[in-house]
Parts: sequence; C-alpha cells; structure tokens
Amino acid sequence: MARKIPGPYVPMSIHFDRDPAVLGLSLAAETVYQRALRWSKETRTGGVVPKDCLVMLSRRVPNIKAVATELVAAGLWGDEAKFHTIRSFHKWNMDEGDFEEYTTEKSRAGALGSHKRWHAGRDKSLPDSCGYCAADRLGLDVGDDFDPAAALNAWADKADR
Ligand SMILES: [Zn+2]
Repeated sequence: MARKIPGPYVPMSIHFDRDPAVLGLSLAAETVYQRALRWSKETRTGGVVPKDCLVMLSRRVPNIKAVATELVAAGLWGDEAKFHTIRSFHKWNMDEGDFEEYTTEKSRAGALGSHKRWHAGRDKSLPDSCGYCAADRLGLDVGDDFDPAAALNAWADKADR
C-alpha cells in the first residue's frame, strides 16, 4: 500500500551511481555531493552552496575545500567567486514558486476534468465541493484566471445568507 512521504525530501535518480561523473569520485566527494543536495533543499538556496557554508557539509570530511575542487573538476558543481552551484539541481527540484504554480495549475486541471466528466451535462451539480459547479450556479466566468477555490468560497458565502 502506498504511503505518504513523511517529510521534505530531495529526489535523486536511481541512475546516479552510473553517472560517469560520479563513478570517478572519492567516497568523501560523493557523500558531500549528496549532503549538499539535502542541505540546499532544506535551506532553500535553490542549488547554491555558498563557500562560507562548506563547513556545514564537512562532518568527517578532513579537507572540504579539496572535495569541493574535486566536485567542480568532475563537473558536478559549478564554481563561482563566492559559491558553488549544484549541477542538475533544478532539473529535479522546482523552485518554491514554480512548485506552487505547478500544483495550482495541476489541481485546477484536475478539478475541471472531473467537473466535465462527472457533473456537467449529467445533472449532478455539486456546488459545495466543485468550484466549476459553483461557478455555473453563480454565473461566474471560468476563464484563464478562474480560481475554483474562490468560487467555492463565493458559493459558501451565498449559502450562508
Ligand atoms: Zn462540477
């Protein structure tokens, strides 16, 4: 049975160990690369590791600067004056803003699909739980800016009166 993921996580390809850039890494560098992914996600730096923060990733790593150099040489980290960038971070991790847009867009598409399939033209209007049904009842426009949650709230406000 599928369970809910219990907390924040960072996605990692199951092919990570076969990446030619990873195959040649020392164990310390592989460890630091993975720590950096988690650290960046937790601290919301968007794949950026400030050089001042390398110490945060250095537990049991004797020479963190040498490891950073190794990751840059392998092409896994970018090297700017004051920070490193984690290659592929954005391929696997959307920005917080992107994620919000994605989930909103996805939930709106899902709600509209469900409405068209189960409510519209079937005499099954559910204005208390479907924003599109609520919009139908209220005569609201369901254009690009339509917000199903706002329509549900408007319907609830009307029903309260
Ligand atoms: Zn509906």
